[in-house]
Amino acid sequence: MNNHYNEFETVIGLEVHIELSTQTKIFCGCSTKFGSEVNSQICPVCMGMPGTLPTLNKKVVEYAVKVAVATNCNITKKCLFDRKNYFYPDNPQNYQISQLYLPICTNGFLEINNENICKKIGIHEIHMEEDAGKLIHDEALGKSYVDYNRAGVPLIEIVTEADFRSADEVILFLEKLRLIIQYLEVSDCKLNEGSMRVDINLSVRKTGESEYGTRTEMKNLNSFRAIKRAIESETKRQVDIILNKEEVILETRRWDDSKGESYSMRSKEDARDYRYFPEPDLMPINISGDYIEYIKTNLPEFRDEKIERYVKEYDIPKYDAEIITSEKALANLFEETVLCGANPKKVSNYIMGETLKLMKEREIEAEQISFSPNNLACLIDLDDRKVINSTVAKEVFVKVFDEDINPVQYVNEHGLAQNNDADELTEIIEKVLDNNAQSVSDYLNGKDRAIGYLVGQTMKETKGKANPELVKEILKKSLENRRGVGV
Ligand code: ADP
Ligand code: MG
Ligand code: ZN
Repeated sequence: MNNHYNEFETVIGLEVHIELSTQTKIFCGCSTKFGSEVNSQICPVCMGMPGTLPTLNKKVVEYAVKVAVATNCNITKKCLFDRKNYFYPDNPQNYQISQLYLPICTNGFLEINNENICKKIGIHEIHMEEDAGKLIHDEALGKSYVDYNRAGVPLIEIVTEADFRSADEVILFLEKLRLIIQYLEVSDCKLNEGSMRVDINLSVRKTGESEYGTRTEMKNLNSFRAIKRAIESETKRQVDIILNKEEVILETRRWDDSKGESYSMRSKEDARDYRYFPEPDLMPINISGDYIEYIKTNLPEFRDEKIERYVKEYDIPKYDAEIITSEKALANLFEETVLCGANPKKVSNYIMGETLKLMKEREIEAEQISFSPNNLACLIDLDDRKVINSTVAKEVFVKVFDEDINPVQYVNEHGLAQNNDADELTEIIEKVLDNNAQSVSDYLNGKDRAIGYLVGQTMKETKGKANPELVKEILKKSLENRRGVGV
């Protein structure tokens, strides 16, 4: 049976909703802050009261144009809002203000690089719209509540062409899109908080066929991992249907990540008629060529440019630059620490090594890193000047990472400064040699490795604070002194 799967090809198109990080909502002055007390950020406008009128938030247009430019789209110079009519408790106006006929931009693309093969993914259009409220179901009481804080939060919806052929391509695209939007500072794009929401349209067909098969649309995907699993599961489900000589139904399905399967939400047969019409309460938006030029010339530096600059300006390996720029928060941390005067390669080592390791252990995202670049620069300086040895530096870094301590103060208070006093170390080493006659004779009989143990014992005696280089140097001398003297 297995070989039949290879005869099929998966075809995927995405609809990606991005919540824009404006301070206020799209048509009123209410705050968009996430996680506030329910129904604390509402007003008659976003509650859809009769007699109220929407006022467009200019920032929304600015943010949408930024994304349009960064995704190579054609901007619609005179675009309009449309009314999408439907009744649902999370939608107090009984319509959503969206864009159907003249979306803000169309016909763009992003390039992805899959195992060194470049592929263009077409962007059909991007439109602006308002978000709905949120229903909260209390299963125990059999009641539902509604929180309107999200009603009127600005969204853009990015609709791609059906250009994807695998889950890997989808993930590469989404990672690239998310990074562009994060660098633009237009949204934080958190899948788990819903500021980035991805719907997967997927169909399968026999490889080589020119027509697309019937697709399904899948919702409720809260992580990249869920997206990958959902694509693989839905591909298999559709191929099985076709192999059974049955037909795939055009429907919307909901992914259940805990079960690893999807179930039907609604069929598209009874797709609602939204009775779209141009929004009469809002003027058309005129976007001038000058405005587009202004946005273009003020775009931030994106990943590829950063990688190139880091290699050129800071002389760090391309490999390092790629890892550091994979998250905006890491790139910021890198740049700011270097600005504090730290050696770029050393900063890069701290980010790629200890920082990523601790992020994994503490299960935190790059944006949640809370230590100040200055404290990292300070720690690197202590290390550079050999005030502390590298083992102590790693311990102090954990404190910087967790509590943003000041390394100089911490090292002083805890007496962690490295011991560089040759006389004192010689004394300690002589004692260590007296107590480890076996290792001494091993070394003198040609077992060079025995010195490692003696270094270890000396470090232990100094509570890890000795300068290891110096210890090794003195040890060698002291050992040689004992040659011939008899041990
Ligand atoms: P609708 O109006 O029902 O939302 P659209 O034509 O806007 O449908 O398409 C929505 C998304 O579905 C787009 O990303 C598009 O590329 C994708 N899509 C359309 N047809 C197919 C298909 N047969 N297989 C996979 N994806 C498809
Ligand atoms: Mg659609
Ligand atoms: Zn409001």
